[in-house]
Amino acid sequence: MSGALRSLLSLCAHMLWPVSCPVCGAMGEVICEPCLTPLLKPPPPRCLECGEPVPCKLHRGGGRIYSAGLYEGGLREAVLMLKGKYRVMGARLGRACARVLVRPDADLLVPVPLHLDSPRRYNQALVIAEALGRAWDIEALPAARWTKDAPSRSGMSAAQREALTPDFFAFDSVAGARIALVDDVCTTGSTLSRLAEAARGAGADVPAAFTVAQTPY
Ligand SMILES: [Zn+2]
Ligand SMILES: [Zn+2]
Repeated sequence: MSGALRSLLSLCAHMLWPVSCPVCGAMGEVICEPCLTPLLKPPPPRCLECGEPVPCKLHRGGGRIYSAGLYEGGLREAVLMLKGKYRVMGARLGRACARVLVRPDADLLVPVPLHLDSPRRYNQALVIAEALGRAWDIEALPAARWTKDAPSRSGMSAAQREALTPDFFAFDSVAGARIALVDDVCTTGSTLSRLAEAARGAGADVPAAFTVAQTPY
């Protein structure tokens, strides 16, 4: 194909679906595979119980939070596009993350639920969990829900995070299951930690959580 024809086709694609790769700017692509792959370099895991880097002195046998990359640059842009209107970005990110993260020994992947007051039309964590689940052959199940309004995760103060207790979450039918939690970004780890406590309270075993990105520690 000639360069001119290729440019014309990508311009047509862009007009039909106005999106461009956040890394290289290629039109008609939410993100190109060769641009996404180098963004995924898993940082050291964090403790699922307290969010500290592992090995955590307080929780030696505790769960872990594994992330596929750092929440900065192109990966941050990609997550923001997923949280905007580009649902398909979740499938791309989940599929790519499954390649760099180690498949857990789990029966279910459970996404962090959308906040009760969220204006979003889909749960980005569920879209990621479904893509991970397809790659790992593990069922993705939105088994958790908020029981009451909680402060928005971004911009939560230490006091607000402290106030986030496991009873903010309820679980459906996870007793006896071994579950891995899924979210888009791990900031302090407090939401995942409270969700893990709530799942254990509902009878599940929670050895791990997975996120696309974690904020640099
Ligand atoms: Zn690109
Ligand atoms: Zn810990």
